[in-house]
Amino acid sequence: MIAVLKQGTSEKQIENLTNWLHTQGVDTHISFGKEHTIIGLVGDTSKIDAELLSSLEIVDSVKRITEPFKNANRKFHPDNTVIEVGNTSVGGNDFTIIAGPCSVESEEQVMEIAKSVKAAGATMLRGGAFKPRTSPYDFQGLKADGIDYLIRAKKETGLPIVTEIMNANHLDLFLDVDVIQVGARNMQNFELLKELGRTKKTILLKRGLANTLKELLMSAEYIMAGGNENIILCERGIRTFETYTRNTLDLSAVPMLKELSHLPIVIDPSHATGIAKLVKPLSLAATAVGADGLMIEVHNDPPHALCDGAQSITPETFADVCDAVRKVRSVL
Ligand code: PEP
Ligand code: MN
Repeated sequence: MIAVLKQGTSEKQIENLTNWLHTQGVDTHISFGKEHTIIGLVGDTSKIDAELLSSLEIVDSVKRITEPFKNANRKFHPDNTVIEVGNTSVGGNDFTIIAGPCSVESEEQVMEIAKSVKAAGATMLRGGAFKPRTSPYDFQGLKADGIDYLIRAKKETGLPIVTEIMNANHLDLFLDVDVIQVGARNMQNFELLKELGRTKKTILLKRGLANTLKELLMSAEYIMAGGNENIILCERGIRTFETYTRNTLDLSAVPMLKELSHLPIVIDPSHATGIAKLVKPLSLAATAVGADGLMIEVHNDPPHALCDGAQSITPETFADVCDAVRKVRSVL
């Protein structure tokens, strides 16, 4: 990190600043130029508040040379992270396809969908048991029963299961869950992230509705700082001025995050657009741009789904998407 000081800063002020920086755990290197004095901060600058530093009266500007995320940073971990989940792995040569309903609605529903998505090529089963709904009057999920039905579907099909957590107090219910999802609305629920950092569970961390990639990586960093390195990032569309689609899918997130981080990244084309017929073209685009996988909402009866029916595809369409994804992968 570099701090450029304003003209006319006195030696005493520079000394005060460097003394303070030393108490923050970094060394300093001062270079006196003709017009400006520049202080180079050497060492672990991740705890330095760049905004606070630039707000000081004698500081003209501050520039970070290294990113504030360390554990998630590819610079310190050049190889891709590959996470073993059940009988499959994420981030390696396998292409991950997580499929299933937005919400678990009944045992029969999730069992039927699990069998059909497995036959089509899904590598994991998803289903929400705790649902973060915008309205408190909408279906909130089957909670513990929902997780139970997912576990039964896992036993029947062998598919590892992915489901969302909204409250760290519920962690005991997630013992047999293979991947715990942190939804977009909880991406910056830092207490939840810290709690998940103390587990060894694989976490699927979704990008917030209005969060930058740096913020997403800092949230991953929260989990990793606690000792849990098993994180799958998920781009699920961000809010823009566009209204035809529910969100705007940021495909550039894939190559950008690949450059910045070693963590695997999957794309969720369902929440990204909110429109079932856009799931296939965006799944193909996500595959082509280098994503490690997809997360797709599949429902056996979309018009009657209790949540996100408009963006849910049928098992038949899902099988067609899987075929098309395989074709794209074969030419990459
Ligand atoms: C979901 O996966 O069903 C979900 C609620 O996703 P998001 O957090 O991305 O809105
Ligand atoms: Mn959903």
